[in-house]
Amino acid sequence: MATLDGLPPLRDVIQRHGLDARKALGQNFLLDLNLTQKIARSAGPLEGVTVFEVGPGPGGLTRAILSLGAKKVIAIERDSRCLPALAEIADHYPGRLEVIEGDALKTDFAALAPEGPVKIIANLPYNVGTQLLVNWLLPGHWPPFWESLTLMFQKEVGLRIVASEDDDHYGRLGVLAGWRTDARMVFDVPPQAFTPPPKVVSTVVHLVPRPTPLPCDAAKLERVTHAAFGQRRKMLRQSLKPVGGEALLKRADIDPQRRAETLSVEEFVRLANLLTN
Ligand code: SAM
Repeated sequence: MATLDGLPPLRDVIQRHGLDARKALGQNFLLDLNLTQKIARSAGPLEGVTVFEVGPGPGGLTRAILSLGAKKVIAIERDSRCLPALAEIADHYPGRLEVIEGDALKTDFAALAPEGPVKIIANLPYNVGTQLLVNWLLPGHWPPFWESLTLMFQKEVGLRIVASEDDDHYGRLGVLAGWRTDARMVFDVPPQAFTPPPKVVSTVVHLVPRPTPLPCDAAKLERVTHAAFGQRRKMLRQSLKPVGGEALLKRADIDPQRRAETLSVEEFVRLANLLTN
């Protein structure tokens, strides 16, 4: 059957290369190229852009990104079984796909980033997705090397990323993402869109760096949110005891009887900036 890009259908690719999905690697593949194109389009224009992709697997999203005109895709894949399938895509798009076999959690993306615009697009392995996002949000200098992140998460995680105060999903991830980025959920993807289907609904999240986030030391912000949300139902005068408790809250002009989930990102930043070490 003909496909949008002239390469074989993904179902055939998976069969020919024996890519039965492995749970330990978070493998839930997307086989519909219309859907992978929709995800790639959520990243905005790709012409002239280098895209980092984590976990290309058999290459459904990779093919979409390349067909939409990305200058180059640098894809990091841990499962060596996928490399021959990805080599076929590289042959179809000469000089535009570089595959690195390795663990994305140990990859220094900033060091690999070329000159020019860089976007990150991925259908992430669920077991490492949140940690990768945090790594991309926490570099010492800002704006970061990437122009945007377009990432698939379990919907539950997506809700935590875009949450703001007074939302049940608000927590450390929402504060961190809200501090440094504009984050929004783009669309949901039902379990049956994946092979094999996961147990839960997924969602695509798009994050764009704020050019000038409120000045703050990321490690201090992490300490405050860790303490506050570690005991999210308690009043802040109790939960923030390890980092300064009531005295700290008074200096920040924040009512010690409030709870973590009522504090805005700006208030968390104010607290973090008052930590002395
Ligand atoms: N992008 C493909 C798609 O959309 O069909 C596959 C997505 S699948 C959810 C996740 C992919 O990430 C798998 O191919 C898996 O082998 C790979 N993977 C898992 N852990 C990884 C890691 N730590 N570093 C790089 N790739 C990883």
